[in-house]
Amino acid sequence: MNKDWAEKNKRMQSLIGKEVSYREGIDVLVDLRKDLFGQITSIVNTYPTEAFYQMPFAGDEGYHSKTLVYSMWHVFRIEDIAAHTLIAQDSQVLFTDSWLEKTKSPIITTGNELKGAEITHFSEQLNVKAVYEYCRTVMNSTNAMLQKLEYRDLKRKYTDTDRERLINSCCVSRDEDAYWLIDYWCGKDLRGLIRMPFSRHWIMHIEAMCRIKNKLCQNARKGVDPIAYCGLSCNHCFLKDWCGGCRTAYNTCSYVTCSPDGKCPNASCCKGKGMDGCWECQELNNCQKGFYSTENVNAIKAMALFIRKYGKKELAAVLNKLHQQFEFRKIQEILGEDLEKGLAILEQNT
Ligand code: SF4
Ligand code: SF4
Repeated sequence: MNKDWAEKNKRMQSLIGKEVSYREGIDVLVDLRKDLFGQITSIVNTYPTEAFYQMPFAGDEGYHSKTLVYSMWHVFRIEDIAAHTLIAQDSQVLFTDSWLEKTKSPIITTGNELKGAEITHFSEQLNVKAVYEYCRTVMNSTNAMLQKLEYRDLKRKYTDTDRERLINSCCVSRDEDAYWLIDYWCGKDLRGLIRMPFSRHWIMHIEAMCRIKNKLCQNARKGVDPIAYCGLSCNHCFLKDWCGGCRTAYNTCSYVTCSPDGKCPNASCCKGKGMDGCWECQELNNCQKGFYSTENVNAIKAMALFIRKYGKKELAAVLNKLHQQFEFRKIQEILGEDLEKGLAILEQNT
């Protein structure tokens, strides 16, 4: 489990267990949920729509064997049902503001009953952005509910009437892989619900989503030119496990994740000019775009200049050599900040 998330979750559980620290515990929980949701936001903002329907671990056992959008749907349907039908006894978010129509979901259930290809088929029907907005609305609604709860509410237990209400909502499938949820929820007190559907369940599925997207990136990079438009080498990059590279739709390089338009300036510029990389450009020496901007060091531009003189294969060979000799994450740790000196270091290692 992600260390930060695990620690925050543990701390929250301990704090909500005592009246004196209960309020602080709820604040930690809301903060943890904010961190976790940030991961979903980053995935939704960065990955292509097709990524949300893929099952790179199909056939495996475990949360990672689903799709990205199924995971989102499942986590927030469970939360919506538990928060509203079971705890607050009011209307679920899904049935307000036309969320069912907007998400284009063919089901109102948690999705536990779906298997294999059914999950893919279901995922393909969903509007990913609308599902994301639905998830966000559920999160905000639950956060507001959590903040209104008092310590004494945590011991609240659920009865046969609550069970009937859940059954009558038809939001939990009668399939044996889903129906157990009703007994599971009703067997817990409110503190138990906080500990699973509202926190730990998120962590487990969001970690699985990270596994799925990393695998999609690795798959996307297979057979693709590993030299980035700017001159970096994806095969030698410290982000390679979770970036598909800028020559694929799974590009999550730093500029893509930070730019408001989600695009790398160097990759966009090269594509616009029909160039294989910045080394083909007359403006390279004076260019200040993206990875060549003043706040960046000159090491990446030195690599583009090296490619211009010697080619991409030679750069890969030099980087292999440097990685055998030195321990480093970023190439600037070896090439330094000076363009000429950086180029000279590369040339000395040919
Ligand atoms: S961050 Fe850039 S160099 Fe690194 S893997 Fe992604 S595209 Fe390639
Ligand atoms: S202008 Fe800059 S970013 Fe654009 S292709 Fe030329 S060197 Fe690359």
